[in-house]
Amino acid sequence: MSTPILECIDLSKTFAGPTRLFKRNPLVTAVDRISLQVMPGETLAIVGESGSGKSTLGRLLLRLLTPSQGEIFYQGEAITQASGARLNQLRRELQIIFQDPFASLNPRMNVAAIVGEPLWLHSSLSARQRQEKVADLLHTVGLPAAWANRYPHEFSGGQRQRIGIARALASGPKLLLGDEPVSALDVSVQAQVVNLLESLKQQFGLTMIIVAHGLAVIRHMSDRVVVMYLGQIVEIAAVDDIFDTPLHPYTQALIASAPQLQPGVKRHIPMLQGDLPNPASPPSGCRFHTRCPHASDECRLLEPINQVLAGGRQIACHRWQEINRDRSVIDLAPPSAAFLRRRALFERAVKQRSITLSGEVTP
Ligand code: SF4
Repeated sequence: MSTPILECIDLSKTFAGPTRLFKRNPLVTAVDRISLQVMPGETLAIVGESGSGKSTLGRLLLRLLTPSQGEIFYQGEAITQASGARLNQLRRELQIIFQDPFASLNPRMNVAAIVGEPLWLHSSLSARQRQEKVADLLHTVGLPAAWANRYPHEFSGGQRQRIGIARALASGPKLLLGDEPVSALDVSVQAQVVNLLESLKQQFGLTMIIVAHGLAVIRHMSDRVVVMYLGQIVEIAAVDDIFDTPLHPYTQALIASAPQLQPGVKRHIPMLQGDLPNPASPPSGCRFHTRCPHASDECRLLEPINQVLAGGRQIACHRWQEINRDRSVIDLAPPSAAFLRRRALFERAVKQRSITLSGEVTP
């Protein structure tokens, strides 16, 4: 098996919450103990509602944010503490495409300067060579080289996003992170940009991470999907498995909440109800229990542990087998030692009545 191009272990990021008069800032854990791997050449999608921590996770993986806890590995090398020249080199190889193509481009710089800046910073090309390279990159993203002297306000949203992509490609990256790369664009140009990203991925042999909430984009572009809820991963699976047989109640509700293209088709799974709880004081046990139609006492008390199923699929839910009873049988790899230990602790606590099933703790 090949080495992951990017991997994180037990990654967390905590921010200070909004200031309140005479009160301490509450701490908000945006990303909570996440472990995942990105394999070379794949497109990994990170999906979840606004506030689920997906963008923060993407920026942590690229070292645009410093983690509060955990380790990040790039091609097997620990990069969590990388700084100086090494961090600069990582910036070349791990590039990002931002959501808002207007806000991410300097309005005082023309396209030649915007796209040429990474070449100026990270290469020893002469001014003439940089000019030729910029023309080349513009051609690659489908813009005429003659537009290099124009400014960002002279372009449409789709064209500005193409400029952002050309800039990201300028330093010769190995991995591209698209942070909601098409959600700010008109529907009519979204497909063009998605197709452009796919063809660039093939042309340059890139690995991609796509952070998005648009399920259609994810289905079209990704190989694997990571589903996040309130800073934690609830399910990881191949894209077809996520859409055809979602196992986690949150994934099921997320997919059921997507707009129906066929009028009159009945939804078998209830749509997602309510809002995301306050991340500064997340619910106990399973964080999804306040919105889950299958929540039990165990869910309210005990945090589910990621279980690894056959084929590398992962799910964090106490009751996924009961909930998906009528689905075809899915092989379950032996539960991990940590899972068995926590389960035993929980059962012993219930037996000894130090925790009642209604959640009261007795002396
Ligand atoms: Fe729902 Fe319980 Fe599974 Fe959480 S652990 S998703 S509350 S069934």
